[in-house]
This record gives sequence, C-alpha cells and structure tokens, in this order.
Amino acid sequence: MGNIPENKEITIEFDCQFRVNLGSSHFSSIMKAFLMLLPHLLQDFFQKVLVAFAEYEMGSEKKSFACKCCGNDTDFVWKTRHGKTTQILTWFRWITLRQLQVQCKKCGHKQYITRHLLGMESMKRVPDETRRKLALMGALSSYRVSEKIGKMFGWAVDKMTIWKSVQQVGAGMDFALDGNEVPRGEADGTGVGITGIAKRGKELKVLVQYKKGGGIRVAGIDIGNYNGSWEKLFEKSLDIIKGFKRPFLLLTDGDTSIFESLKGKVTILIQRCLWHIPYQAQYVLWKDGVKRKSEEWLHVVAELMEICAIRPLVDCRDTIEAMVASKRDRLEKIMEYCRTKGYTHTVSYLENARGDMFTAIENRLEGKTTSRVERLFRTVNMRVNVSKWSVEGALNVTKVRLAYYYNGFDA
Ligand SMILES: [Zn+2]
Repeated sequence: MGNIPENKEITIEFDCQFRVNLGSSHFSSIMKAFLMLLPHLLQDFFQKVLVAFAEYEMGSEKKSFACKCCGNDTDFVWKTRHGKTTQILTWFRWITLRQLQVQCKKCGHKQYITRHLLGMESMKRVPDETRRKLALMGALSSYRVSEKIGKMFGWAVDKMTIWKSVQQVGAGMDFALDGNEVPRGEADGTGVGITGIAKRGKELKVLVQYKKGGGIRVAGIDIGNYNGSWEKLFEKSLDIIKGFKRPFLLLTDGDTSIFESLKGKVTILIQRCLWHIPYQAQYVLWKDGVKRKSEEWLHVVAELMEICAIRPLVDCRDTIEAMVASKRDRLEKIMEYCRTKGYTHTVSYLENARGDMFTAIENRLEGKTTSRVERLFRTVNMRVNVSKWSVEGALNVTKVRLAYYYNGFDA
C-alpha cells in the first residue's frame, strides 16, 4: 500500500441542504433531529473528501496506489466516483459510502480505491481507531453497559460489535518484559470466576515488572488451570531475561520450573499468598481422596478459610500479633487433624506453606506493602465476573483492561 503524500492540503467546500421537521424547539427535539441529520452529514462529508482526494490523485502523474494486476501506478481512468456501496463504522455510527473505482489503462483491471484512501485494509469495515475505542469501552465496563452508554449518546453500535472489538484487540496484544526497565518483578495468580465454564474456577496469572520511575507494568498474562504451568507467562520474556546485566529477581508463589535452564540469570524469592492456600488445599485434599463437601473436607477447608482470612482494617500491632498467634495455633490443630486422618498430601502441603504463611501480615505490620499484583487483581476481577465467557474471551478482555491501566494503551 502506497502512501498519499502528507504535505498536500485539499480545501473542500461543503454545502449542506437538509430538510427536517421539528415539533418543538426544546433541547431534546433539537438533539433528536440532529441525530437524524448526523448520518447524512457524516456520509456526505466522507464521500466528498474521498472524491476530492481521489480527483487530486487522478490529476497528478504518480499515484499513491498501483494496479493490483500489472503494478502500473501512473495511468488510470475513472470507472466511477459513486459505485457499489460499502459500510464503515465511524464512532458515531455506521455510514454507507459509494465506492470509488478506477481502471488501469495498461491492463484494463478495475479496482476500488476507497479503503486505500481511508488508510484501511481492504475488506475491513471497522477502522482500527473505531476498533480500539470499542475495545476499551467494552473492557472497562460490561458489554451491556457499553451498548447502553453508546446509545445514550447516539452511538448506534451493538453488543456483538463491541465484543468482537475486545476480542480482536485483546488477541493482538502481546506482553513481555521490557529490557530497559528494572530486572525485577512479581508473578502471582488469582482465581477468576468465569461464568459459563462448568468446571472449577480458573486461575489468572500475571507477571508484573517494576518500572524505574516507580509503579509497575504488565509483562505477561495467562488464564489456565490451578497448579497449571506458568510457562506462558514468561514465554515472550526469556530472551529479555538473558539480556539483563543483573539477574532477574522474581517474587512469586508459582511454579518456576521454567527457569531451570536459566540458572544464574534468575533469582527467585518465594512468597506465600494466603489467598491461594484454601484453594490449593482443595487440590491436595482431592489427591488424598477426601470427598468434596464431605464432613472432613468441609472441616479442613472452612478452618483454612478462617485461618487465611485477614482483616485489613486492623492496624493495632498487639491485635495483629495476637491474631497471628491464634491463627498459628489453629493451623497446628488442623494439621494434626489431617495427620490422624492420614491426609499425607495435605499435611506435607501445609508443612511447606507454614513457614511463610504469615510473612505478609507481619510485613504489613512493619509498614511494608504486600504483593503489588494483589492490587492489580482487584482492578481486573470486577470485570471478569460480569458475564458469560470463554477462557479466551476472559483473557482478551483482561489484556485490554490491564494494558489500559498499566501499559499506556489508550484509544
Ligand atoms: Zn494494470
């Protein structure tokens, strides 16, 4: 695709004749009438500008387009300035344009130049700019709300188009570490309820990287099974990790087997996230053959839920210390219970976790903030629970949302 010279300017005279019946001069009737006028005005304006630029090209020696058949980029004649119709989605509404068609004088091939002039790919009906706006809108609120807001302001666009935009824009987004930022980050996972997926919840896994000027950026994202592989999170970043002058310092709770080939290049600090424990415990209980929702299962899970629940508003040091002591005590009791029941997987899981379980609370006590990913998850979760999703659909909407909040994506 050639480029239309950018330094040329074309002046367009636009006369507008429009007949409309208004029953009153009230604000709402004027707005309503304008919304009827808008599509005509917009359509005519687009058409006029396109024809003017095309005329300019036809009048100059070299064209910004070439014949798709023979490559000729100088000799063309007009076929039509108002040919077959085509539709384009602006961010006011769909407009119908009459196609501009030229014929190659060398080989006789006919081709449309409308989308070329618009700077759009052939066949596409939604321009990238519109696509991005719809995607961001759909990622920041539910599709239903997006549609509603659009309609209130005269944007006649349906939920399906918004959904498609989110999917396309999200699918086209890649996240990776940035070699110019700090070689330090955190990876963590959180459960996401995906409505419409019958099986147990999925885990959203996110890798964040610290930025030189403070703050974080998203460097990897995936949605998969609990205890699933963390590989996808780092897939695109392995070469960048190798390129850092200092070892990459990663704070995580997840599976880090992917780094075995990167010894000396990656240092891993493990942090237990209390949030995970009752969920991972359900997995080890299953391995121990404990029936889901049985009396024993309920006892262990409920106890762990209580032990792991933190009350964020408590800021008195003595109270926190007493709370931690009581939680430790309860944890010992539930481990003893599992031991007598012969739940070996559960016991060994809890024994492993015990050491770092309360570090987060104790750190909070010393004024240190806990995982930065934690805050990020709160931002995301609001949106993911909203409606029916496929894993892919939930991943895409989360990508757009995170890119907006953390990586400077805008529309
Ligand atoms: Zn040709």
